[in-house]
Amino acid sequence: MFGRASKKSNNTRYYEILGVSKDASQDDLKKAYKKAAIKNHPDKGGDPEKFKELAQAYEVLSDPEKREIYDQYGEDALKEGMGGGAGAHDPFDIFSSFFGGSPFGGGSSRGRRQRRGEDVVHPLKVSLEDLYLGTSKKLSLSRNVICSKCNGKGSKSGASMKCPGCQGSGMKVSIRHLGPSMIQQMQHPCNECKGTGEMINEKDRCPQCKGDKVVQEKKVLEVIVEKGMQNGQKITFPGEADEAPDTVTGDIVFVLQQKDHPKFKRKGEDLFVEHTLSLTEALCGFQFVITHLDGRQLLIKSNPGEVVKPDSFKAINDEGMPLYQRPFMKGKMYIHFTVEFPDSLSADQVKALEAILPPKQTCQLTDMELDECEETTLYDVNFEEEMRRKQQAQEAYDEDEDMPGGAQRVQCAQQ
Ligand SMILES: [Zn+2]
Ligand SMILES: [Zn+2]
Repeated sequence: MFGRASKKSNNTRYYEILGVSKDASQDDLKKAYKKAAIKNHPDKGGDPEKFKELAQAYEVLSDPEKREIYDQYGEDALKEGMGGGAGAHDPFDIFSSFFGGSPFGGGSSRGRRQRRGEDVVHPLKVSLEDLYLGTSKKLSLSRNVICSKCNGKGSKSGASMKCPGCQGSGMKVSIRHLGPSMIQQMQHPCNECKGTGEMINEKDRCPQCKGDKVVQEKKVLEVIVEKGMQNGQKITFPGEADEAPDTVTGDIVFVLQQKDHPKFKRKGEDLFVEHTLSLTEALCGFQFVITHLDGRQLLIKSNPGEVVKPDSFKAINDEGMPLYQRPFMKGKMYIHFTVEFPDSLSADQVKALEAILPPKQTCQLTDMELDECEETTLYDVNFEEEMRRKQQAQEAYDEDEDMPGGAQRVQCAQQ
C-alpha cells in the first residue's frame, strides 16, 4: 500500500546519487555508475557509505521494473516491498557482477560479506555398547569441491557473462497489481542462471566441471564416538560440507542416535536393568549374573536373610555409563525387581506355609456380627484395562457435549 503523495519528493534521490537526469538511458546509468563506483570504491580509499548508496541506486534504476516502482512511489515502496527492495544486495556483489571481477586486478574482496554454505546433517546410529566403550566409525560421503581445473570459475578463460535474464543480480522481481495504488513485489531466484547471476559461454566451459564450477569427490570421514556420549549429541566436521564458489563451506554434522538395547535402558549417566525373581528367590535369597556392556560378568546376590519386595530397586555404584570426557567416572546401575508369585497353592502347601510364616490377623467377629454381614464375591480384574475403558467412555461423552447438534442427535436416537 504505497502511493502516498507526500513521498513524491523521494523519487529523485537515486538519480542525484548517480548524477544522471530522470530520463537517463540504461547506457547512461551504466556509465555513471561505473565512473562513480570506481572513484568511490573502498579499496581505493572511497567512502563505504557512498559506495553502498551508489550500488543501491544502480541496482534499482538498472532494473526496469524496480525503476518503474521507484519513479511512481519512491524509495519506501521498494523498502516495503516483499524483501526485494533497495539494499537487498551486497554492494560488492553488484560491483563485481557489473565488472565481471575486479577492475583493479584481483584482490578486491576486502570487506566483502561471504555467503555461508549449508550444514549437512547425518544421523548416526550407535549401540549402547558404542557409547559405553567409545568407538570410531569410518563413513564414505560424496561432496562437491571447487573444480581444480578452473578454480571454480567454470570457464576456460576465467571469464563469465552477466546473466541477461536478471542483469547479474541472480534474482528476478515480479510485480502484481492488487489495485490502482497497490502493488505486490515478489522476488525469486532467476531461472536462467539458477540464481548465480552469470552465464558461461558454451565454448568456454571448463571441460572438467562442464561449467558447474564444482565436481563430486568421495571422502572418508572418521567419526570418533567418545565414551559417555549421549543420544542426540552432535559431532561436527567444520568446513567439510559441499564447497561452492564465493561461499564459506558449511559443516558436516553427525547426530548420534542410540539404538534400543535389549537389556539396559539409559537415563543420563545411569543404567537400568529389569530382573524378575521367583517368590522363593525373593524370600530365601538369590544369585544371578548380568553381562555388562563391555562383556564383564557381574555377580549379583542378596545378603543372607534379606527379603526383596516387589517393585523395589537396588543399585550398584560405578557400573553405570562413563561420564563424557571424564570416562573414569561412572554412574550407577539400577536393578528393578519384579517378584513372581505362584497363581495358587495346594492345601498342603498352605498348611506348611502357615506353620512357618507369621500368624494371620484373625478377624474377631462373633457369629451374631457375621449374621449381619452380606456375602460378596471377588472377581479377577485387569485394573488398568478397566480404567482405560472408563476413561475412553468419558472422553467420548465429553466430545458429544462439546459438539453443536449433539442434543439433536440424542433426540433422533430416542425416536
Ligand atoms: Zn539470471
Ligand atoms: Zn572446472
